[in-house]
Amino acid sequence: MTDRPNLLFIMSDDHAAHAISAYGSRINQTTNLDRIADNGMRFDAAFCTNSICTPSRAAILTGTYNHVNGATTLDTHLDNSQWTFPQALQAAGYTTGIIGKWHLGHGPGHDPVGFDFWRVLPGQGHYDNPVMLEANGKIVERGGYVTDLITDDCIDFIDEHKDKPFALFCHHKASHRTWNPAPRHFTLFDDIDVPAPETFWDDHEGRADVIQSVKMHMMDLDPITDLKALVPEGLSREEEIEWRYQRYIKDYLRVVAAMDEGIGRLLDKLDEEGLADNTIVVYTSDQGFFLGDHGWFDKRLMYEESLGMPLLIQYPPRVEAGTTCDEIVVNVDYGPTLLDLMGVEIPGHVQGRSFAPLLDGQRPADWPESMYYRYWMHRDGAHNTPAHYGVRTKTHKLICYYNDPLGQEGANGPADPIEWELFDLAADPHELRNVIDDPAYAAVRAELAAELARLQADLGDEPYPGAVAPH
Ligand code: CA
Repeated sequence: MTDRPNLLFIMSDDHAAHAISAYGSRINQTTNLDRIADNGMRFDAAFCTNSICTPSRAAILTGTYNHVNGATTLDTHLDNSQWTFPQALQAAGYTTGIIGKWHLGHGPGHDPVGFDFWRVLPGQGHYDNPVMLEANGKIVERGGYVTDLITDDCIDFIDEHKDKPFALFCHHKASHRTWNPAPRHFTLFDDIDVPAPETFWDDHEGRADVIQSVKMHMMDLDPITDLKALVPEGLSREEEIEWRYQRYIKDYLRVVAAMDEGIGRLLDKLDEEGLADNTIVVYTSDQGFFLGDHGWFDKRLMYEESLGMPLLIQYPPRVEAGTTCDEIVVNVDYGPTLLDLMGVEIPGHVQGRSFAPLLDGQRPADWPESMYYRYWMHRDGAHNTPAHYGVRTKTHKLICYYNDPLGQEGANGPADPIEWELFDLAADPHELRNVIDDPAYAAVRAELAAELARLQADLGDEPYPGAVAPH
């Protein structure tokens, strides 16, 4: 036990907030994640700045946006000569460790740095009998289920380092595709139909053409690798979509169930060791996920389910139990916030801002009223999602699908090279009505376009050169 707070930073992969009961999930219970919410603060407007694995992880570690840290796409690897907040913690005397998913590249130039101990999955890693990598090319081969092994390793790390200030990063593979459950959860949910979201049959009418051609529908799931079953014969298209949703969502929730159990074991460990009062516990995911919302799976788009990140933080000395926060925070803010709470200096180049005052229940007068988003991967073969950027305020969202150079056809004919969407989140929280051309929203549109330009200038990003100024 020391005076300096420890950090247990738990990050999952693709775990949407609406599959956590503390966030009001309609489809599952997460009793252990709910413990963090009950003991701390639940953030209801935490957003990623690019909804895809590697870029979000890079943004969290570096405290900078992807156009600055260079990890704009899934295939770019983090240049590990950059400053990261775990390195700052290590330099400040913390014993640091990362166990689980890294997904920022391997080998010199990309391996984890700033960690006294690391044991990470190569690339995406595997759910069953996963190989893991350590420093100096050491390969760890074990039998078992990935979520349980990561949990076991984290408990061992806490055991070994509980007498000094530590910062442990527990990065789960779950709940990433291909959603392979632990054997003990094979039949969980077998006896129920999981309710579909309200927007499951969204026909995407009125949304951008490029949205209508994304390959993230239930029919785009691979029956063998994703659904692990042969599609029954004789189903109508509608019946097959419903059947696919049940296969998909049940496995997704099963891998979440194993993770929730593991998180319970970690929280128990902190309690047993008397560390809970002096440890900052964070639970988040690298982005959100579509759980049948709008008929989709996956992430990438700036729509709410994908843009949002679950964020739960408990730290009894500073954070009042059972509280919520609806101020906008983004993934680049995580590092500076934790350094602030742990008494470590935040360098000037960091673009994120500490939200420690929000954890204290205080809103700084100049706290941001908007956030900037940019997804860079244009029409990758698998998902066909368009590159886009946009701005979200507490009440509205403006998205620019900038310049589709291929001019590929959408459902309504050749795609416009630039398409815009505007949503009134207060009136239309499910983002079903694109009001970009509604005269009643002309002033809002102009305001948001100006805010988007301001954010791009402030953050040093540049509009796509083909994009025209908004009307
Ligand atoms: Ca992810």
